[in-house]
Amino acid sequence: MTVHDAIGVGFGPSNMAIAIALEERLQQRHPGQRARDAFNAVFLERQRTFSWHPQMLIRDADMQVSFLKDLATPRNPRSPYSFINYVHQQGRFSAFCNLKSFNPSRVEFNDYLTWAFDQLRDWASTGETVTAIDPVVESGRVTLLEVTSHTAEGERIRRRTRNLITSLGGSPRVPAAFQPAMADARVFHSHHYLAGRSRNPGARRYAIIGAGQSAAEIFMDLASDEANHVDLVARAYAPRPADETPFVNRIFDEEFIDHFYQLDAAQRAAFLEAFHHTNYAAIDVDLLHAMNRRLYEDRFLHPDRLRLRMRHEVSAVVPRADHVELVLTDLNTGRQYQQAHDAVILATGYERSLHQKLLGEIRPYITDFSVDRHYRLKSVREFEPTVFVLGSNEATHGLSDTLLSVAAIRAGQIADTLLASAGQFDGPDSLPAASSASRQHHARHESEASPSL
Ligand SMILES: Cc1cc2nc3c(=O)[nH]c(=O)nc-3n(C[C@H](O)[C@H](O)[C@H](O)COP(=O)(O)OP(=O)(O)OC[C@H]3O[C@@H](n4cnc5c(N)ncnc54)[C@H](O)[C@@H]3O)c2cc1C
Repeated sequence: MTVHDAIGVGFGPSNMAIAIALEERLQQRHPGQRARDAFNAVFLERQRTFSWHPQMLIRDADMQVSFLKDLATPRNPRSPYSFINYVHQQGRFSAFCNLKSFNPSRVEFNDYLTWAFDQLRDWASTGETVTAIDPVVESGRVTLLEVTSHTAEGERIRRRTRNLITSLGGSPRVPAAFQPAMADARVFHSHHYLAGRSRNPGARRYAIIGAGQSAAEIFMDLASDEANHVDLVARAYAPRPADETPFVNRIFDEEFIDHFYQLDAAQRAAFLEAFHHTNYAAIDVDLLHAMNRRLYEDRFLHPDRLRLRMRHEVSAVVPRADHVELVLTDLNTGRQYQQAHDAVILATGYERSLHQKLLGEIRPYITDFSVDRHYRLKSVREFEPTVFVLGSNEATHGLSDTLLSVAAIRAGQIADTLLASAGQFDGPDSLPAASSASRQHHARHESEASPSL
């Protein structure tokens, strides 16, 4: 069986950015040669064709990060994989400039990512769901990892690798009160929004649970059809603005991660709490104003069609024959009452623990699921492969971890580490092989860095 230099699980923006960084580094080192011949990496993606959060590709939903923070520009502003090169190649450069906006629509950004994906096909195998990661043990040492995937047709494929990168994204968070009702097609998470709507063509009375960006986008989408009655139900006192002001925004910079990482656990937790609303349970200011205007106009056009039920908690969800009943508690008064809806949509966010199940078989060899500054799982000495885990390290790497903000720079660092381990790169960003000893060295080095906001 061929041993791969690296296998990536998932081919969303995080791993696509790594493939781009590998390709650009390898082209520099081996001009004219096919990059994958020099470094045998493959990224396994469940989706057959690329799509970025396809069920939330709502018209008028905008990016919450600058287009400059694309797959490559922060690492290499001259990269052919930049968003700017994409709009230029599509013949929209001047038109895009005339928008005078840093925030393209999500539909356009999805098109950009699809354009990049099409050029990276050589690195990917699509339509494969990775179902197991097993250690290959020789003389008491784990020398390689065996990656098992399944195609939709039921074919099982096994590969071996020296390095693994998991970038699995999130899984829908479903609060306990909703769990018994999730088998009902009328109750669904925003992760399945467009399909959920299609499955309920006759629905007119909607409840949206949550007060974050997705809840607001869905609210506006449903409200645009005047036949719909829409309730937004949330525990918050009011829909809050996402803080995008310049000094606060620095927490999403790559440089900030060094500072955050060297804080102790209590300091990090306090920080995450203080800045929670930059990314969670918060809504873009423009969208807040648009919601308010829509609500205001409906006060005289269609009273009671659109309602914000703030300070409300859902105590139970009861599917009935012709409606879904929500048992609501008004947190201000303690009053409980029922409300009938045709469909209930959870905009309750995502869990970030998919990797823990997938990596269950290597659990005896790793300290816990924590990673070092460079996203490598901390492991025992007898464990030789390097496992990079991306997108689930908010507790140690800060609020940018799940976002696009640092994806390109992080990708460059990981690509350099991978290439260095294969003797393909010894540039300034590269790290020594990820042995326990070198991890300790880097942990010491990192603790010296402490830039602040
Ligand atoms: C609706 C929505 C809007 C967002 N908007 C923004 C934004 O404007 N700005 C921003 O910075 N961030 C945004 N985010 C955050 C988002 O996490 C990042 O933009 C980005 O998608 C992270 O990329 P990723 O590759 O880590 O994860 P994902 O994009 O989630 O990609 C993970 C990939 O892994 C695949 N996969 C998962 N498990 C397996 C498996 N077992 N086998 C094979 N393949 C697997 C999935 O199919 C998927 O393609 C948004 C998130 C959502 C849900």
